Amino acid sequence: MFRKVHLRLAALCAGITFFILAIMSCGYLYISEKSLKSSSFTAFQNEMKEIADSLTASSVLTWDQLSKIESQGTYFFQILDNGAPLLFNQKPSSEQKVLFETAWNYYHKHFEIFSLEPAPFSCTEFDFSSRGLGSSDYYGCAIAANRNGGNLEIMILMPLTALQQQIHTQRLLFALLTALAAAALFLFSWYFTKRLLRPLEENQKRQTQFIAAASHELRTPLAVILSCASASRYGNEEERAHFLDSIQSEGTRMSGLIEDMLLLTNMKSHSWTIEKRRTELDTLLLETFEAFEPVAAEKSIRLFIDLPDRSLPACSCDPERIRQVLSILIHNGISYTPSHGQIRLSLTFDGKAYRIQVTDNGIGIPDAEKAHIFNRFYRADQARSQKGHFGLGLSIASEIIKAHQGKILVGDTPGGGSTFTIVL
Ligand code: ADP
Repeated sequence: MFRKVHLRLAALCAGITFFILAIMSCGYLYISEKSLKSSSFTAFQNEMKEIADSLTASSVLTWDQLSKIESQGTYFFQILDNGAPLLFNQKPSSEQKVLFETAWNYYHKHFEIFSLEPAPFSCTEFDFSSRGLGSSDYYGCAIAANRNGGNLEIMILMPLTALQQQIHTQRLLFALLTALAAAALFLFSWYFTKRLLRPLEENQKRQTQFIAAASHELRTPLAVILSCASASRYGNEEERAHFLDSIQSEGTRMSGLIEDMLLLTNMKSHSWTIEKRRTELDTLLLETFEAFEPVAAEKSIRLFIDLPDRSLPACSCDPERIRQVLSILIHNGISYTPSHGQIRLSLTFDGKAYRIQVTDNGIGIPDAEKAHIFNRFYRADQARSQKGHFGLGLSIASEIIKAHQGKILVGDTPGGGSTFTIVL
């Protein structure tokens, strides 16, 4: 599913960005072509002005002058002396004849102003299409001069093949660059959306694992409840009472597990908040210590508490949640410490942070497992048989401390056992 979403998201991201890029590129290309055409026309106009000036400077038109004009660039020209073509260099081809006819027609149609007195001199530059339609493919310059009582008309034409070639190359380059940009955009979007989706994918994986582990945990007490319920039908009074006891204890276990799961789910969905208030941590620790003393004594475990001599400033935290974390740690300490062991609770304050430590001299946690014990439903193998231990305690503790922007760390107790440290 994620692969499909990933592909669609990458295509959408790349598509939108490419669309914007393509619009920008087309806009830029349009402006650039326009300015190229305009500068090329201005250059043509300037050259024509120079040619016209040199023509008008002398009273007679010499072959020399005409050869000079022709050698200046890629120009064709036609000279009409009182309307009759003047032959220069070589006879024009039939195509050239048609071309000049089109140019003159265009000029007469668009520019020639009829007046009674012909102007002594005029020079008009224009662009036109030799095919009569589509984009212009020639620049033209019509020079009309009134010389010695006669009319001299010159048409100079310049094909726009070089300009069109330049525009064509520019378009091709743009298309190539845009295609490269599209490929780069898709690759970037692919990588970017992959990174974007990774936490979601991991979250979904964790949820699936959570559901699988929860179902697995619920199946055992449920199986016991069902078998006890069916067995109690056939048993005597005494056996029935025993089965009912089992049903009750398994039911309580299930209810505890469901409560833990709900708590964790609420924490993850942020529908659960901590209620911070000024709390005397030493009092809180002392109360928890007193509550667990009888539980520890039942297992012949000695519980100690080390509190600072001077009173500490109040800590801003949710006392009930911190009490819950302490209960989890002490409860674990009692569970994973053999009889006659000891558990020590301590509190210190260094002026910046409070450190609460729960130290036991129990079975300890191998280094390879330390990284996993805060994961949901994680239990070390030797603890699997422990009833009421679902592997959720430390993940709840870690979520609570995270919500306090604190830290919870695990280490070894010198001489054996584990030490949990909470930094608030
Ligand atoms: P559980 O409910 O199984 O104790 P926790 O999340 O509280 O779940 O602990 C996860 C695992 O970490 C336990 O199964 C146990 O293997 C290990 N563990 C936790 N606390 C201790 C401890 N004080 N000593 C040794 N192992 C511990």
